[in-house]
Amino acid sequence: CVRVCPYGGVEVIEKIAHFTDFCNLCGACVAACTFDAIIVEAKPLEEVDLSQWSGVWVIAEHSDGHLRPGTIELLGEGRRLADALQTKLESVILGDKVAGLAQEILTYGADNVFLVENPILKHYRTGPYADVLVGLLNQHKPEIVLLSATSQGRDLAPRVAARIRSGLTADCTGLEVGSSDLLAGGAGTDSQLAGLSEQQVGRLLVQTRPAFGGNLMATILCPAARPQMASVRPGVMKKAQKTEPSGTITPVAVNLDERTVAAKILEVIRQEEDSGVSLQDAQVIVTGGRGLGKPENFKLIRELAEVLGGAIGASRATVDAGWIPAYHQVGQTGKTVQPKLYIACGVSGAVQHLAGMQASEVIIAINKDPNAPIFDIATYGVVGDLFEILPALTEKLREQRTS
Ligand code: FAD
Repeated sequence: CVRVCPYGGVEVIEKIAHFTDFCNLCGACVAACTFDAIIVEAKPLEEVDLSQWSGVWVIAEHSDGHLRPGTIELLGEGRRLADALQTKLESVILGDKVAGLAQEILTYGADNVFLVENPILKHYRTGPYADVLVGLLNQHKPEIVLLSATSQGRDLAPRVAARIRSGLTADCTGLEVGSSDLLAGGAGTDSQLAGLSEQQVGRLLVQTRPAFGGNLMATILCPAARPQMASVRPGVMKKAQKTEPSGTITPVAVNLDERTVAAKILEVIRQEEDSGVSLQDAQVIVTGGRGLGKPENFKLIRELAEVLGGAIGASRATVDAGWIPAYHQVGQTGKTVQPKLYIACGVSGAVQHLAGMQASEVIIAINKDPNAPIFDIATYGVVGDLFEILPALTEKLREQRTS
């Protein structure tokens, strides 16, 4: 066991194996031990009374006095799940002077909004946001909690899930409930599922997310702990439609002390958007790939985006090469976008790029290689040299705009 441990986690002292602080429970020693003397056991979770948890919650995000688009998408998805489970859709908004936004959340169909206002919550900081949210979850016990997989959500969700001792599926692309087929399928052999009634299985959140670089879709359940927490990539779900508000706002008073918050915000520096249009809100996106050849040639992308009033996207190859900031990256490790029109120029169409843009309504691909995979998903394909096509297209559109 000493030899097989990659971490130096086992020491033999006087013929007895001792585990050091370097042991990370990987279990390599278990298989190697010819005496079956080593057992790694997960500490059992505390039994949770599932019946005490009900309701679907959406944790709202906002910036510059507006709800983030991902939150509006989660409200649409949350409504659908809440209706299927015949339960309430509730939302939580944290911030300073955000009562107007709480009101707006009601217009997207929430039955109730917990409104937590405090100057300390003005800008997102992990500590106070997690403290407030954990308190609310313990008090109100929602069955499902949805967050956006934005920088904020990706920071907050795991912190909260760990504190509340529940699971989290990050970066989901699909959510369902009411799937009692799970017992009939292979999942029925899972001992945790087998212990649930048919009704409890029907209330499980079936969370789907890409795994192994997008080559596999994983289905993930959280059968034994509550709440069932998922973060969802913005741009994947359909936005909620506005309706006549009928829900309530529940103000929540919190006692926070700035002196106990470790992180201080000294300055907020806004990311300048080249074209003035935010990538995730854009109706039109013009994306440049490695086919541009060098960073200066992003000028062609910028000009076309400008004439169309669109935003600038980029493949990871161009971001990694330092041609354009990471903010513009579209794809599995970048942003997920869903514009009306996506123009991919000199982008090959790797599966990781497609993961972030294939839900676009109309896709135009410009590539000199007729076999480039981007053409498999393009609505219109232009086989040719982008250095000829882009200036001509921009010029023609400019003429049309001015005539
Ligand atoms: P290339 O694949 O090099 O394609 C360039 C294309 O330009 C070619 O098809 C070529 O025919 C064309 N071309 C060249 N010259 C011209 C010309 N003059 N006119 C017209 N066409 C021309 N990639 C992403 O984009 N986003 C992600 O989020 C992302 N995440 C990843 C995550 C992981 C875990 C991994 C492993 C990879 C990820 N990638 C991602 C990288 C991805 O696999 C590809 O490497 C990348 O998308 C390729 O970028 P590209 O299409 O610009 O470059």
